[in-house]
Amino acid sequence: MDCLFCSIIKGEVPSDCIYEDELVYAFNDIDKQAPVHFLIVPKKHIDSTDDLEEEDADLIGHVFLVAKKLARELGVTNGYRIVNNCKEDGGQTVNHIHFHVLAKRQLNWPPG
Ligand code: C5P
Repeated sequence: MDCLFCSIIKGEVPSDCIYEDELVYAFNDIDKQAPVHFLIVPKKHIDSTDDLEEEDADLIGHVFLVAKKLARELGVTNGYRIVNNCKEDGGQTVNHIHFHVLAKRQLNWPPG
């Protein structure tokens, strides 16, 4: 199966990696929507949030703790947003679950 984010995790496609551990891979988004905008991608291939299973609960908890850790390390002091786009209506364009972390500007609500 051809998956862009699996290829990025394996190093077959270049990315601006900022963090990696046994469970997740994080890199700066190629098309930044805020001064800080990175993606946290579970190394396990899961298509979307809609495909999560009970056994993935710890993995997703880990994603959020990594988001907090990286935001702190990047000097984010005034809050941030974690976004998961799920499937077509959610605006997902890469079908490997991932979480955007955006910071260092005032973000608007509601989203478009
Ligand atoms: O949530 P969604 O699936 O739309 O997000 C995919 C994200 O992956 C986009 O923000 C896009 O800029 C990013 N991307 C990337 N590097 C690539 C391909 C896509 O950072 N090589």
